[in-house]
Amino acid sequence: MTLSITSAFDGGNIRLVAAQGDCIDVEIQKDHQSDFYQWFYFRVTGAKGRPLQLRIVNCAGSAYPHGWDGYRACLSYDRDTWERADTAYAGGFLTISVTPETDSLWVAYFAPYTMEMHHDLVAEVAAAPGVAYRSLGKTLDGQDMDYLRIGEGPLQVWLYARQHPGETMAEWWMEGALGRLMDESDPVTRILRRRCTFHIVPNMNPDGSRRGHLRTNAVGTNLNREWHEPSAERSPEVLCVRNAMDETGVDFAMDVHGDEAIAANFLAGFEGIPSWTERQQQAFDRFAAELVRVTPDFQTSKGYEIAKPGQANMSMSTAQLAERFGAVSMTLEMPFKDNEDLPDEVYGWSPDRCRLLARACLDALHIILDDLPARR
Ligand code: ZN
Repeated sequence: MTLSITSAFDGGNIRLVAAQGDCIDVEIQKDHQSDFYQWFYFRVTGAKGRPLQLRIVNCAGSAYPHGWDGYRACLSYDRDTWERADTAYAGGFLTISVTPETDSLWVAYFAPYTMEMHHDLVAEVAAAPGVAYRSLGKTLDGQDMDYLRIGEGPLQVWLYARQHPGETMAEWWMEGALGRLMDESDPVTRILRRRCTFHIVPNMNPDGSRRGHLRTNAVGTNLNREWHEPSAERSPEVLCVRNAMDETGVDFAMDVHGDEAIAANFLAGFEGIPSWTERQQQAFDRFAAELVRVTPDFQTSKGYEIAKPGQANMSMSTAQLAERFGAVSMTLEMPFKDNEDLPDEVYGWSPDRCRLLARACLDALHIILDDLPARR
């Protein structure tokens, strides 16, 4: 069997440049009609027992070159368990050293969450008691924008993930949140479902997910720069979700992402919006403080720079929802690398820990329910 490299599957992304003996050079492909790239997901067959050096040779021009420092690639044989590989970064080249145990090895930037996995998740949740399913619209590739409603309380809670499709940790987080919200024996779930109505979009960018994109949809649009004026031509995903939000209003919202560079979990808020209120801010700060208390995987010292008054970017969903609805809204960022304060040598930041963080977020939401502004 000769060695081969392929990414011709759901969510795959790579291009073979050259193969010389055990040294394989590959390139990550750009998002369609965009210059963004950093997500990779490919398969190596026919290399059992060979000491491979898999080199990604175009890292210097990727979206976040600083993301490669201290990063380790994810490897799997069964596409279920993803372990971190011996990985080095220098001079724009990411070198993954691995001697495959079998003739079929899978390599990815983070544990993948493919569209087929997404359909399994949505099918399971939609069939559960007390859950309503709705397709909010169609993407440019003709895929459904899947939406799930759970609970019957007056507080309108929106959870949505993966505007940036290469940030697959966001949908692993969704799996944890949905799993907990379906567990009717969980006392926190029972309170949450009584006091809140959850509106959940587990994947905001199905086209980018299936195409193996890092950051954009089928026509190269970064969806998290469209929330001030989404359009049917460039960003139907945002348009249909924002229209549904206009119907329900939004009291609390989480937009779930991954960050290439910072080795920590952190929140970004809505500080620079024109209509900022102290009460909104206090609820946000209390949520963050409670999340620190319920999980050692969360912290508040590392994160993005906070926008000055009046300088929020209203094209981003968190700022737009805080302004438009007076919502307590936030962007959750999880690491591609790991939580450097509590690292896991074998798995790094992992699907299991994404799911656990989602459960912790629901604990924190439960604690701060009385701090949320009542629907006007
Ligand atoms: Zn993102």
